[in-house]
Amino acid sequence: MALSLYNSLSRRLEVFEPEHPPVVRVYGCGPTIYGRAHIGNFRTFIAYDLLHRVLARKGWDVRFVVNFTDVDDKTIEGAAGADSSLSEYTEPFGNAFLDDVQTLGVVSFHATPRATDYVGDMVEWIRKLEERGLAYQAEDGSVYFRISSFPAYGRLSGSRVDGETGRSRIDADDYDKDDVRDFVLWKASRELDRKVGAVWDSPWGPGRPGWHLECSVLSIGALGNTLDIHMGGEDLLFPHHENEIAQSEGVTGETFARFWLHTKHLRVEGQKMSKSLGNTYTVEQLMEMGHSPAAIRHLLISAQYRKELNFTFEGLEGSARAVERLVALHRRLHEEAEAHDDADPTGLEALAESAVADFDAGLDDDLNSSEAMAALFVFLKETNAALDRSKGMARPEELEAARGALASMDSVLGILELALAESSVDDDLAAWVEDLIRQRAEARAGRDWDRADEIRDALTARGIVLEDTAQGTRWKQG
Ligand code: AMP
Ligand code: ZN
Repeated sequence: MALSLYNSLSRRLEVFEPEHPPVVRVYGCGPTIYGRAHIGNFRTFIAYDLLHRVLARKGWDVRFVVNFTDVDDKTIEGAAGADSSLSEYTEPFGNAFLDDVQTLGVVSFHATPRATDYVGDMVEWIRKLEERGLAYQAEDGSVYFRISSFPAYGRLSGSRVDGETGRSRIDADDYDKDDVRDFVLWKASRELDRKVGAVWDSPWGPGRPGWHLECSVLSIGALGNTLDIHMGGEDLLFPHHENEIAQSEGVTGETFARFWLHTKHLRVEGQKMSKSLGNTYTVEQLMEMGHSPAAIRHLLISAQYRKELNFTFEGLEGSARAVERLVALHRRLHEEAEAHDDADPTGLEALAESAVADFDAGLDDDLNSSEAMAALFVFLKETNAALDRSKGMARPEELEAARGALASMDSVLGILELALAESSVDDDLAAWVEDLIRQRAEARAGRDWDRADEIRDALTARGIVLEDTAQGTRWKQG
């Protein structure tokens, strides 16, 4: 079936086909690495991952590029505040982002270019814009894009400009320009930039690239003049994406991105996420509170990317229960159900087939992950019921079909795979602890107290607390 995506450019659902199959070129605006990304950011990055997996499921060769914004006002201010250089300051946040996406089971991106590695290309880009009469240097030394010379400006955002989130970025760019709409391409260096080493040479004097330019140059550099899909959070539609189009098409004269996808912002406990409300949780914080990556991923995927999604701890617990039900079904199909050639038919094959068809239809409908998830949970319920009826017995090919359907649906959702990986780590730990407890009991029986203490210390070092009871030794993770 065909994949339909809501294209913010045409403002309607369109059937998606790559321009040059089998290759699909996708770019998503990445993190600004001035702090650890929060779960709101991960709603967007998990939506990237879902798109990535859905495109790959269609058999296409997906090139998914996500940039790191490692030079902009926020990174520079952060570095100055921490008294470090820009690169020293941003590096750990870039690494933390890569750790977090791995923790949440995000498929590796094709490339994650850092803006500061491509400043030479950005300078070259501005030179071309200048040649075409689309850029000018103002008195303060900064270079601006001249919007009045680019008639197509505004095609993406139209009259739907959401100034609220865009404005702070505009104000930050508000140096000394001819027209208030013009945006900065090259910022003449200031004291703060010099302090953190955010200064590069250019034909217009020392300075640094503007934030919007980074994405045009990095995406085109990695993927070519025309992207099949460009994605980002809804706050980026204006002015960031509008400006990306102007800068890119201003140089290449070709369509910059055929499809534009925008994710809706995650809310937390019904509120906008903000530092002052203290509701900007990171993946690390949630895990320290005992929540699992599989549950976080489940929650973030539970609503379609364009629909309202409210993060609550109650919802996260509901997600944890949903994950447990998936793991239980997986175990039942792999370990408990019995294959019998002469068992009565259970109907599992038909259930599997219709579940996968409904699941794919959901995703084809503009990545509707909640429809897809509903198909998965109908399958879960009906499969359990069919196994109950047949007392856990089914023909081998039926069990195989059910296992295949579960694996196939999860290859897109990526929830069960995370949960199983986590529980296998738990299983390994449990086996290790129990082996040591046995050795300790032997040492104590042989009155080898030194060895017994040594074992207890080794367990303590791994955060394992032992409790000796009349029924034997119990353990827990402290
Ligand atoms: P930033 O690190 O602020 O540049 O943002 C990285 C990505 O996360 C961008 O695509 C943003 O639009 C997106 N984003 C930021 N806040 C949220 C949120 N609350 N919900 C969903 N996406 C967000
Ligand atoms: Zn961008």
